[in-house]
Amino acid sequence: MSTNTMTAPNTLTADAVESIKKVIQEQKKSPVDPMGLCDRCSKNAKSQFLLPGHETPLLFCAHHMRAHLGGLMAAGPVSFWVAAEDLWTVRGVEVPAQNHRRSGDGLTDA
Ligand SMILES: [Zn+2]
Repeated sequence: MSTNTMTAPNTLTADAVESIKKVIQEQKKSPVDPMGLCDRCSKNAKSQFLLPGHETPLLFCAHHMRAHLGGLMAAGPVSFWVAAEDLWTVRGVEVPAQNHRRSGDGLTDA
């Protein structure tokens, strides 16, 4: 038995990691319906995956997106969108530095 046979929630192929990197580098505004809810819990959805044969995308919160990312990518999504800041725990994906950290006092706009 190798460790590869263990259930690993974030098992991503190299191709999947490349696809995700490409999407998070090119994506701009989230297409996720701001009123959309995660398909697995009732939190706000922050990512979506349109799988082959489906007309509407699956919506996931950050937690469930990470939990199912390996399987979703293995399904070969027609299109998908993930929030880059939610991928920080996913191995192999380098999240680009972003400028929208919480601003200290909320007043500085520089
Ligand atoms: Zn969820």
